Amino acid sequence: MQVKINQTTLTLVQGDITKEQVDAIVNAANEQLMGGGGVDGAIHRAGGPAIMAECNEIRAEQGGCPTGSAVITTGGNLPANRVIHTVGPIWRGGNAGEPNLLASCYRESLSLALKHNIKTVAFPSISTGIYGYPIDRAAGTALNAVKEFLEGHDGIEEVRFVLFDDATYAGYENALSEMNT
Ligand code: ADP
Repeated sequence: MQVKINQTTLTLVQGDITKEQVDAIVNAANEQLMGGGGVDGAIHRAGGPAIMAECNEIRAEQGGCPTGSAVITTGGNLPANRVIHTVGPIWRGGNAGEPNLLASCYRESLSLALKHNIKTVAFPSISTGIYGYPIDRAAGTALNAVKEFLEGHDGIEEVRFVLFDDATYAGYENALSEMNT
């Protein structure tokens, strides 16, 4: 599924983000930038140790990456040149600022992409795995945050959501169909 928002193409696909041929892929990281399970583990396995080496430097400089913010490293051996690491909120029932923090992940990642002249960027579904964010809610928040950002900023050619499983893809597809794009 694909729509156009200003100059940018917004695409939903099902697949493995580590295989994406884009300028940058986004990682659903943790605040310590220590790697872990889910998409984070897959990205470090596929990209090799150069990514963690840069995460270690960032941790030494600034102590990690607070929830809702983003940092950038090399893509190591990945097809993508860069990895943008952002930390989604852990779902605590919805009244602990989760929507704002999740929207912030997408905004901060796209700001960092623009700053680094990245033209094509792929996102996973942040927070909906180990962090337990319900997919339907996360999808609406994610797509709205991206749409709002793209309405205010030119320069990115494509934003692609790379969704791992059927249920996640279906959740994003529903949310995008319900949006005014
Ligand atoms: P979080 O801790 O932010 O919840 P997870 O990695 O546990 O992050 O899950 C986020 C989403 O990433 C889930 O929908 C999960 O199915 C998906 N995912 C896992 N591996 C991959 C992959 N290789 N490519 C794309 N998405 C993936």
